[in-house]
Amino acid sequence: STAVVWFRRDLRVADQPTFLAAADAADRALALFVLDPALLKPSGAARANFLYGCLRELDDALGGKLLVVKGDPADVVPRVARAVGAQTVHVAADYGPYGRERDENVEKALSDDGVELVRTGSPYAVAPGRVEKGGGGPFKVFTPFSRAWADHGWRAPAGTDASTCTWMDPSDKDGGPRAVKVPDDEPVEAELPQPGESAGLARWRDFLDEGVLDYESERDLPAKKGTSGMSPYLKYGCVHPRTLLADLAQHRGDSVKAYRTEIAWREFYADVLHRRPDSARENYDKGFDHLPLRTGKAADADFERWCEGRTGYPIVDAGMRQLRGEAWMHNRVRMIVASFLVKDLHIPWWRGARHFMQLLVDGDLASNQHGWQWTAGSGTDASPYFRIFNPITQGERFDPDGDYVRRWVPELADVEGKAVHQPWKLKGGIPEGYPAPMVDHKAERQDALARYDQVKAAR
Ligand code: FAD
Repeated sequence: STAVVWFRRDLRVADQPTFLAAADAADRALALFVLDPALLKPSGAARANFLYGCLRELDDALGGKLLVVKGDPADVVPRVARAVGAQTVHVAADYGPYGRERDENVEKALSDDGVELVRTGSPYAVAPGRVEKGGGGPFKVFTPFSRAWADHGWRAPAGTDASTCTWMDPSDKDGGPRAVKVPDDEPVEAELPQPGESAGLARWRDFLDEGVLDYESERDLPAKKGTSGMSPYLKYGCVHPRTLLADLAQHRGDSVKAYRTEIAWREFYADVLHRRPDSARENYDKGFDHLPLRTGKAADADFERWCEGRTGYPIVDAGMRQLRGEAWMHNRVRMIVASFLVKDLHIPWWRGARHFMQLLVDGDLASNQHGWQWTAGSGTDASPYFRIFNPITQGERFDPDGDYVRRWVPELADVEGKAVHQPWKLKGGIPEGYPAPMVDHKAERQDALARYDQVKAAR
């Protein structure tokens, strides 16, 4: 008998509970990946290329036996199952709005042939929807969630590797959708991290050896390599968070705790999105529907300047250029640039979120949309709206020597030290080629607060 293992956001062979379920269900397994145009279209070239690299490596790990097909999963998955005579199709459950609907459609289509879609595990240590308040119902604030999440606990990593299943050679299948090659990389401006499971695990081991103990003191300094860089690997499931948590449990200290808390944020936002799928596109806090925002030509032009990293505020511009240069941005700077768009330019958070999703190699709907909403004040744990990031003091505090700005803004490369954060104060004037600040932060801060009064008035 043959089972199908359908990979999605779990492009790895280690710690793979679906392998165990498939090996229990049948003598051999067919490994399948579906290139779904509905997902590839909005994902942007950086993420597409990273995905293709992960698929190539996964195919190698499976001895060249990964079947890649293209099309709508509700159409192609049942056809593959039929072609190999499978009774079960194994997946890790998806909790995003699109993935859930897709899987329901696939499940329905499979059931017409008497085939079962078996969900084992998820991309999270604790599946979204599991952590509940004492009296039932979801948490709306992070800290109590993270406590209940830790109390809930998680399984140990599943001890799997490529040999856990006997993989069927896809060329032996009888009919069904045509196999395609993993597409060639698309042209992309950014230099991307090495894709795949072995690169992800290598990076994790480096971080455990060298970075984790300084994580708490260095994680907010964008000039340093103070964070793990695991986000793209977590996004595509090259490494499961269970594996990270099990390794962390071998270490002690505040930095280890701080890192675990970041994993908990990822799980929290997945839980929030699962329970409130509308929050991917709309304000989580509906009161913010009353916030007056800028639209029209002038706002469009300002949005473009923000995208290009030509706002005249060096830390903002450095961040936006890092996004283009690496398809990644440091977390502290993500917060600064997001605050600038929403509270200095008064442009809706979802425009910024969409731009991020097009460029980020780690673009993840739950973490991105809720990271944006956190900054905008309309999300869970809303940092009070009136706490508005000052791009100058944020720059001076978190990039105290100015190294991060100089790395990404060559026009300011000759300005020494933290003076780089206020180039308009330089004796010789603003260095050639660099713009003057596009807005006056103090004035925009007042404007943002006045706009926020409308939200308060409507409460
Ligand atoms: P580390 O500091 O090493 O953290 C380890 C892991 O914890 C990360 O890989 C990530 O999975 C998780 N994590 C850390 N911080 C957060 C957080 N604030 N929210 C959720 N998970 C977190 N993260 C994404 O993975 N994809 C996104 O699309 C995304 N968009 C964001 C947009 C905005 C406006 C903001 C403020 C944050 C966003 N984040 C996003 C969260 C965070 O910036 C990144 O996870 C982090 O910068 C990734 O780098 P790292 O792996 O080196 O992080």
